[in-house]
Amino acid sequence: MTEYVIPQPPQPSLAVSGTEARFPVRRIWCVGQNYAEHAREMGGDPDRAPPFFFAKPGDAVVPGGGALPFPVKTANLHYEVELVVAIGIGGRDIPADQALSHVYGYALGLDMTRRDLQAAAKKAGRPWALAKGFDQSCPIGPVAPVATIGHPERGPIALSVNGEIRQQGDVSDMIWPVADIISQLSAFVALAPGDLIMTGTPAGVGPVQPGDVLHARCVGVGTLDVTYDAA
Ligand code: MN
Repeated sequence: MTEYVIPQPPQPSLAVSGTEARFPVRRIWCVGQNYAEHAREMGGDPDRAPPFFFAKPGDAVVPGGGALPFPVKTANLHYEVELVVAIGIGGRDIPADQALSHVYGYALGLDMTRRDLQAAAKKAGRPWALAKGFDQSCPIGPVAPVATIGHPERGPIALSVNGEIRQQGDVSDMIWPVADIISQLSAFVALAPGDLIMTGTPAGVGPVQPGDVLHARCVGVGTLDVTYDAA
């Protein structure tokens, strides 16, 4: 057994529906502007180009959501509800027609974003890392195995804040479907078991205040609840 000079970091993981065993999280890859209406609301052009990617640290994951402290260093925290792909089998240069065989399962997640930091980074041509990859920036519900639910190619994905619907889309509205995302991302990095891919958010992103209650759902995949502590 390897001996380490400092305590070994804990392994982040997600619950898996139907079993006590857990899904170990390696990296969190994210796709930007993968729904046309959201691309437009962010000032992008949905017809323009191939997907673009960014990342969050694996330990940004918050398994199952729950009560969270309001993040530091932001006055404009935004929610983004997303279908999450859990990679079970790694690979590089994966052809799109084989990509779905690399998926272990799917979950529902929130790509929480410090929008003010992101806007400043965009303006300065700087990285998004601290806008997207902060502590507890990635609440994710249980993984539903493909063996149980198949591949969710269509179905509503929605988010409400304090009981009011703010985002409502359909996973079939993705510009780049899951197979294409896997194929294109695997041309840049070798995907590995435990990698998660956030597949982008539908339109309607907006601010979260301390005390807000977020409820996300995706038909066939699951639900996720997050509450931010009151100020
Ligand atoms: Mn996102």
